[in-house]
Amino acid sequence: LVPHLFSRLPLDAAPHSLLLRDAATGASLTRADLRRLVSSLAHGLRQTHRVRAGAVVLLVLPNSIAFPIAFLAVLAAGAVATTMNPYSSSAEIADRVRETRPCLVLASRDNVSKLPPFAGAPVVLVPHLLTAAPADEQFAPFHALLGSGAGDEFPSAEVGQDDAAAVLYSSGTSGRSKGVVLTHRNLITMVELFVRFEVSQYARPACDNVYLAALPMFHVYGLSLFAVGLLSLGSTVVVMNRFDVGEAVSAIHRYKVTHLPLVPPIMTALLRAKATAGAGALPLGSLVQVSSGAAPLSGRLIQDFIKAFPHVDFIQGYGMTESTAVGTRGFNSSKHKNYASVGLLAPNMHAKIVELETGFCLPPGSCGELWLHGPAVMKGYLTDEDVCTRKDGWLRTGDLAYFDSDGYLYIAGRLKDTIKYKGFQIAPADLEEVLVQHPEVVDVAVTSAEDEEAGEIPIAFVVRKSGSTLTCVQVMEYVAKQVSPHKKVRRVIFVNAIPKSAAGKVLRRLLKDSLHHLDV
Ligand code: ATP
Ligand code: MG
Repeated sequence: LVPHLFSRLPLDAAPHSLLLRDAATGASLTRADLRRLVSSLAHGLRQTHRVRAGAVVLLVLPNSIAFPIAFLAVLAAGAVATTMNPYSSSAEIADRVRETRPCLVLASRDNVSKLPPFAGAPVVLVPHLLTAAPADEQFAPFHALLGSGAGDEFPSAEVGQDDAAAVLYSSGTSGRSKGVVLTHRNLITMVELFVRFEVSQYARPACDNVYLAALPMFHVYGLSLFAVGLLSLGSTVVVMNRFDVGEAVSAIHRYKVTHLPLVPPIMTALLRAKATAGAGALPLGSLVQVSSGAAPLSGRLIQDFIKAFPHVDFIQGYGMTESTAVGTRGFNSSKHKNYASVGLLAPNMHAKIVELETGFCLPPGSCGELWLHGPAVMKGYLTDEDVCTRKDGWLRTGDLAYFDSDGYLYIAGRLKDTIKYKGFQIAPADLEEVLVQHPEVVDVAVTSAEDEEAGEIPIAFVVRKSGSTLTCVQVMEYVAKQVSPHKKVRRVIFVNAIPKSAAGKVLRRLLKDSLHHLDV
């Protein structure tokens, strides 16, 4: 991947133009810096830690301008990078170490106290900023690694396109996070699709674009953009250590950010900030495009967002860890006014909609499980826990979806979330879409509760507007008026917030667990 990435970024064109910038301090790295740092770190890893093809290096790093360098250097050394949420507990880190068996751990200073004693895996601390060697002794080993490297040339690593490049973990929305093995070919396919799409969208050169990296880079969505794809385009990436709405707004203003990839909860936070700040008071004039992915998005939220920020193009896409974040080409909802679709299938990706009971392919308009096939689809899982997700080279996504006759894809929900009420199938997303239209409802998640008579019943967790006196019965009546009788919500629980993962997804299993405590 790494030589490919840099071949897309000719250094002689503009070696000193900015590529990465730290949002908090303004510290920056140029294209030439990136190449030099990745190459010297890759050499350092090989010389000092004997990092070789097939070995795994675990990154326990929050977002920083050092993250892409660490990730790319591991790949350039021929090894496999695996990432994890840097806010994980000691037990979770120990678990991940057991599963991935790293030969080396690259960690941030904040994580040091959480790291378990590693059997044979040394830990090197990575500083947030790489511009100058800091006086802090803790980072001396890292700077020694950079210093031991030679020249701008990458080490000649003995890896092929179908060798593993990274193990990224799925979000753990429907169960335990799964380690997804992605090859160099997977990542190169993602880069090529991404480049093609980004370049075709606007007349302006991609290197004039400034992206805000507000999403975590340990997850496939943030990683594919900020640590890989964008660097090949020469766009500037302004890196936030962690998302905070106030800091995001000031970073957009200060650095004239043009592109903001986000997840639905960040859209809600921005809308709330705009409502608090008053008309026109949010300084977001530089934004050209906002894009969302990774989690379902209600039509109402998109429309509210487009109304609040009319000068911005709003794009939605679909992807998953198992497909290197590739799925659909982002779809410009502002232009097409088709708020429910996640867009057209990405080039090179094949799809079919499969009927659950029969395994037959379904025609446009019919909903079934989405299966994907193509060069961006993973090599497999790290452990064979979920072999049934692969069949004859096809990836079963576990998502319920349909295409319309023009080829636009619609995600109806997850198979595992489907509520089985007296033999009827109910998609939580259908009920959530109705509930979120209620003027006194701020957020909502629907899940199932076991029921002796019906098997399962739909149950809604609802966040009310502050000061609202809405009752459970009123909520149930509101839904009942708009859906067929079997789909009625049978119970409502008011909560202060809906639990969501770092990638912005509703953690339905936590809601289900909470039902046991409530004795429902
Ligand atoms: P796990 O597989 O561990 O349960 P996960 O599926 O949430 O977690 P990811 O790979 O991060 O892990 O997410 C991919 C999933 O996210 C897709 O299968 C789909 O369910 C959902 N998703 C992604 N984009 C969208 C979108 N635009 N609209 C609706 N759902 C989406
Ligand atoms: Mg999944």
